[in-house]
Amino acid sequence: MDNRTKQDIFASLDSMSVTGTSSRTASTSNVWSGSDSLAIGEAKVISANTSDKSYRKLTSHGNVTSYSLLSLLHECPRKYELEKFQAAHPSSAPTEGLVNLDFAYGHAVGAGIQTYAATGSVQAAIFAAMLAWKAPWDAMKVNKQGADTGKSLTYATLAVEKFAYFWEEHMQDWEVVVLPNGKKAVELAFAVDFQNGRYHFGHIDVVLRNKYSGALAVWEGKTTGFTDVNPAMYGNSSQALGYSVVVDAIARLIGANGQDYEVMYIVYSSMSREFQLLPFGKTRAQRAEWLQDVLLDHASLDTYERINFYPKRGEACLGKYGFTCNWYGSCGMRTSSLFPGAELKVLEDIQGLESLDFSFKLDELVAAQQQE
Ligand code: SF4
Repeated sequence: MDNRTKQDIFASLDSMSVTGTSSRTASTSNVWSGSDSLAIGEAKVISANTSDKSYRKLTSHGNVTSYSLLSLLHECPRKYELEKFQAAHPSSAPTEGLVNLDFAYGHAVGAGIQTYAATGSVQAAIFAAMLAWKAPWDAMKVNKQGADTGKSLTYATLAVEKFAYFWEEHMQDWEVVVLPNGKKAVELAFAVDFQNGRYHFGHIDVVLRNKYSGALAVWEGKTTGFTDVNPAMYGNSSQALGYSVVVDAIARLIGANGQDYEVMYIVYSSMSREFQLLPFGKTRAQRAEWLQDVLLDHASLDTYERINFYPKRGEACLGKYGFTCNWYGSCGMRTSSLFPGAELKVLEDIQGLESLDFSFKLDELVAAQQQE
């Protein structure tokens, strides 16, 4: 990157998206082309969806779950309850005003590499990473000993540049699916109406299609502080099973085979600064397991709500990375004292929500499953 300021770069890239021409100086004007301005437009959309997923605002409703919320529920039901209230009433949050550099870094890398896959433009990919970085320009995450963790905007843009080589070397048989409406299958949001008064929301990073076999695959991007990634971290994750409903819908839309699909975890280590590819095969039969699993979690939530008691799990107070739960010392207080007068809103329906690309009903999914 040259020595211009961040504002100069944004101004230059911004003007490209409006005019389709470069505002750079003569010495660099030949770098940009007409296709670059299209790529910059895609970068803006992808970075916005990566860092500000609009459907996420809906997950503060009391009757909405998601993969991360259910992971929280499994960790500690009381923490799940408090985090729900915190999301619904952010001014009461103990972490209000703090910048989360893990999120900023993850979103920047995610937006950058998705943009590269969708556009093939390194410039657009780096621009997307910069837009998705929601933290001070020069912020750097350090560990408890004050050592560099490899998480900063500079390192995020390095990851994006490295991804261009990774994509060319390992992913050349794959391309990003283009939906019939012209939208690239990147950052797709979906929801399932479980017809029990609860809705489960999710999103898919990217849906890919093999250029030769036509097979579909879901790309799940992750960043990790581990140097080496153990496949057991992701192999049985229920997150990937929920994707089957969207893969099936896309297969019907584009006339592909959606019976079986792969989930490709593309994991970037902030320590080794390398990407790893971890592919896992999934079948439609596993979708039935996922639906059953979510229904069981919903039944637990129904019980906690009915008896007005969310149990505490003391083994979760000190997290796996050595951080103490934000609610330690206060989770024993009444919820009404922590959030005076607060109530969780109820989502009435998911039909017509603009923030969703796909919506499903449980009975339709079950009927489709039984026909197979
Ligand atoms: S401090 Fe422990 S028990 Fe309390 S909410 Fe957090 S994880 Fe649960």
